[in-house]
Amino acid sequence: MTGTVAGPRPGFLDGPLRLYIGGEFIDTENRLTVLDPATGERLAEVPLAGEREVDQAVRAARAAFPGWRFTPPAERARLTWSLADRLAEHAEEFATIEVLDNGKPLGEAKAVDIALTVELFRYYAGWATKIAGSIPPNSVPGMLSLVKREPVGVVAAITPWNFPLLEVAYKLGPALAAGCTLVVKPSELAPLSTLRLMDLVHEVGFPRGVVNVVIGGPEAGASLVRHPLIDKIAFTGQTATGKAILRASADDLKRVTLELGGKSPNIVFADADLDAAAGGAFGGIFFNQGQACVAGSRLFAEASIAEALVERLADKAGSLRLGHGLDPQTEMGPLISAPHRERVLSFVGDAAGEGAEVVAGGNAADVDDLNGFFMQPTVLAGVRNDMRVAQEEIFGPVLSVIAWHDTNELKALANDVRYGLAAGIWTRDTSRALRVADELEAGTVWINTYGMFDAAVPFGGRKHSGFGRELGEEALEPYLQSKSIWLDLDAAVPQAGQGISR
Ligand code: NAD
Repeated sequence: MTGTVAGPRPGFLDGPLRLYIGGEFIDTENRLTVLDPATGERLAEVPLAGEREVDQAVRAARAAFPGWRFTPPAERARLTWSLADRLAEHAEEFATIEVLDNGKPLGEAKAVDIALTVELFRYYAGWATKIAGSIPPNSVPGMLSLVKREPVGVVAAITPWNFPLLEVAYKLGPALAAGCTLVVKPSELAPLSTLRLMDLVHEVGFPRGVVNVVIGGPEAGASLVRHPLIDKIAFTGQTATGKAILRASADDLKRVTLELGGKSPNIVFADADLDAAAGGAFGGIFFNQGQACVAGSRLFAEASIAEALVERLADKAGSLRLGHGLDPQTEMGPLISAPHRERVLSFVGDAAGEGAEVVAGGNAADVDDLNGFFMQPTVLAGVRNDMRVAQEEIFGPVLSVIAWHDTNELKALANDVRYGLAAGIWTRDTSRALRVADELEAGTVWINTYGMFDAAVPFGGRKHSGFGRELGEEALEPYLQSKSIWLDLDAAVPQAGQGISR
């Protein structure tokens, strides 16, 4: 374990940090202290938006909408592409901000959070000029019908803290391509990269009010959700919050997409390459400290290889290097906050009480010189699928290993959970893998790999993991609505001073 912190502190953090509304950087009376989760120390002071600032931001986005929707698509594409270029130029700084704010290792922040955000902006810049309507062949003689695809309007983008910038980009990219304007509310626990992104939005020259940012917690989120001038809510976060948002948006019939929690099964067949499967299971749960919606938190090991797999995982967990994310030696950082760590640890205690065996970790971790929210990577063997630890989203570095005997039993167990976000399958038998994949209740299935993402491939959940998709062409749909236009081709053209005659 290591406590060294490398790398310069980005000057941006010393502020003053301000909201971004209507193309202006705005100060507020109230401020919020953001902590570095690796040290528990104050990292920055951010402005806190109240009802007034939320209202200003929504009105700015509403005012910008008519101009933005009719901005030539090639110009919208150019601005979004320029944003990607500027972000790529500042990749190191953004990765550092993400590490300090969220705790993740720097290598992961660069390779995943920032790299994918850049690619995503480029991908959706490309879409801005390719959103086409259609001319369906109707069966009414003499009538032409055109189906146009128009932007839905003003979007509230509400995001979590685990992939702070990336989660914002998932919404920003398709919304801008579609011609929508936005008010973004990042998580109050990790808002810094979103605020820094607004400097780049400003510099590349997005028109005023197209993108606005407010910072705040549930209250700011709730006032955004109930604002009558919001047309669509793009939400990522906990299932309980998603349900509250869906209820709150019902009266105005706002469009809602929900990317929610997960409890994903990662399935290992006895014929799998065990080293590869162990590596995939390990990365699948401990990546981002287990704070990933797709965390493969239920490892279903075929009984004949379960012990061998558990042994490999326990060994790897025991030697994982914890530390500050800026230390190049660090393989796993801290959890986001002290209360979150307490909650995660409570699952381990409960599981042990229900008969699971703690084969690695299980406790808070001490890391030299650092006073952050570290937790040992934890592996639990002998878990049953009906235990709390196997049914509820933990969102931390806790892997539950469940042994199974036959494929029908396995499929039933894998689906016996309220979530339906992702799944993994490890086997050398590709036909079997594809057959099992067909029966899994999940939005994404990875075979002999885990956690792959690409800007072009849709991602999203089923069941209590939500609905709607992000990434890929499909992600554009929630930001668009169609308009059908009918034209009578036989109608006489009226002469000056005459009515229309047929
Ligand atoms: P959260 O639900 O606590 O908060 C998410 C966002 O919603 C934050 O910005 C928060 O301030 C805001 N919010 C909270 N209450 C609100 C309310 N009543 N009205 C409006 N906004 C409100 O989630 P979190 O703890 O920040 O994030 C972790 C969760 O996110 C996990 O459940 C994880 O699985 C999920 N997640 C899902 C995906 C996915 O794509 N499915 C991706 C990342 C994270």
